[in-house]
Amino acid sequence: MGFIVRDCVRCGTKSVQHSVSGSTYQGENRWELFCVCNRCTKSSIYVFHYGGNKNPHDLPGQLGDGDYGQLDNVAVKIATTSLDLAASIPERIAGLFREANECRQMTWYEAAGAMYRKTVDVATKHIYATDGRLTGKIPADALRVRIKSLGEMKILEPDIVEVADVAALDGNDAAHDIDPYTADEAEALEYLTMDLLDRLFVRPARLAEVRAKQILAGQRKPA
Ligand SMILES: [Zn+2]
Repeated sequence: MGFIVRDCVRCGTKSVQHSVSGSTYQGENRWELFCVCNRCTKSSIYVFHYGGNKNPHDLPGQLGDGDYGQLDNVAVKIATTSLDLAASIPERIAGLFREANECRQMTWYEAAGAMYRKTVDVATKHIYATDGRLTGKIPADALRVRIKSLGEMKILEPDIVEVADVAALDGNDAAHDIDPYTADEAEALEYLTMDLLDRLFVRPARLAEVRAKQILAGQRKPA
């Protein structure tokens, strides 16, 4: 059995030997090594690039920086991957959505549902804080009432009000219902919340960008 040397991502020990106790082939000379830290005995996975004819876990000596192949510097991250979101979504709101998505990736569906609800909540408050037509107006504490009044004041189009209201009601379920919130429910709420953010922030920003280009090109008069 060979070994690798990396900083342990489990106990934090620098440049510590890990025993390679297993390997699986992933295609194109790419292997995943199952590595056990000699300090804490916890395991992590590293990608190893090796075209030899043995299973890497049968190789003696040091893998990667020693006699064979190349070893990635960073361990495979098992937890979650962070979503790329449009820059036009305000950072605070994008952060909430990302956190909700990461909860869903971790199979924490109730937490995900509650976080999507919070995303909708903060997004509607953001409109009150930034839309000039709402200066001096106090947003309702209750989310669904707030959404309804944004529709009544013609700040939001009826289709957006509907998406927001469905998302809010469903998020209430995740946050308050006794029944478990399921994977499918969390996925559906994620789509709905993304659709809402798209209509509220992404589409208007894209429209403004194209309009600005047209004005610059003389195809359109400034408003
Ligand atoms: Zn360790």
